[in-house]
Amino acid sequence: AEAELKERSKVMGHLRSRLVQTQKIAMSDPLTELPNRRAFDINLKEAVELARSKHHPLCVGFCDIDHFKVINDTHGHATGDRVIRLVADALRKVTGPKIHVARHGGEEFALIFPNIGAEQAARMLDRTREALVERHLLARDTQAEIGCVSFSGGVAELRSGENISALLMRADHALYRAKESGRNKVITAS
Ligand code: GH3
Ligand code: MG
Ligand code: MG
Repeated sequence: AEAELKERSKVMGHLRSRLVQTQKIAMSDPLTELPNRRAFDINLKEAVELARSKHHPLCVGFCDIDHFKVINDTHGHATGDRVIRLVADALRKVTGPKIHVARHGGEEFALIFPNIGAEQAARMLDRTREALVERHLLARDTQAEIGCVSFSGGVAELRSGENISALLMRADHALYRAKESGRNKVITAS
């Protein structure tokens, strides 16, 4: 009986680690290794609840690579993938460990700024944009000029009593305004 118990607990241990592994896969984006949109939604719900209970500010941000389709069309999908990874790294690096960065979809990223107001969140995102734009890129395989890659960003700060979808809509609208008014900039929702 003791041997059987031991065997069973070994199986349970295996199953548990498989489950943890599966959850990790379900929550992350394989290209950038960032959390994916599913993870973002879960993280945001938690972060909003915490911000509300502590009366802390909270911001969300969206950013979308400018004219990305041209990069794909000119240099190929593999180079496009590398550019997405480069932007992911830039966002991770400049915003630091307290900010949640996720790949929200194709060439779009979403950020959660816990305990940070709109002005500071927009500044952080804008610093990332500047750091990215300063670089001059070459395609790895052909050494062809990609040139500068930029993104447009939108930031919104949670209002009291506002629900999550309204918050996301305001951030998305700010991003849309950044695109519409010339790209390569970050706009804060009013
Ligand atoms: P805008 O400045 O208005 O955002 O223009 P854009 O060209 O960046 O936007 P558009 O939505 O027209 O094109 C986005 C492209 O991103 C289209 C799609 O094929 C490409 N894309 C989406 N996901 C991936 C990916 O994982 N890898 C690569 N290489 N391309 C992707
Ligand atoms: Mg897009
Ligand atoms: Mg784009």
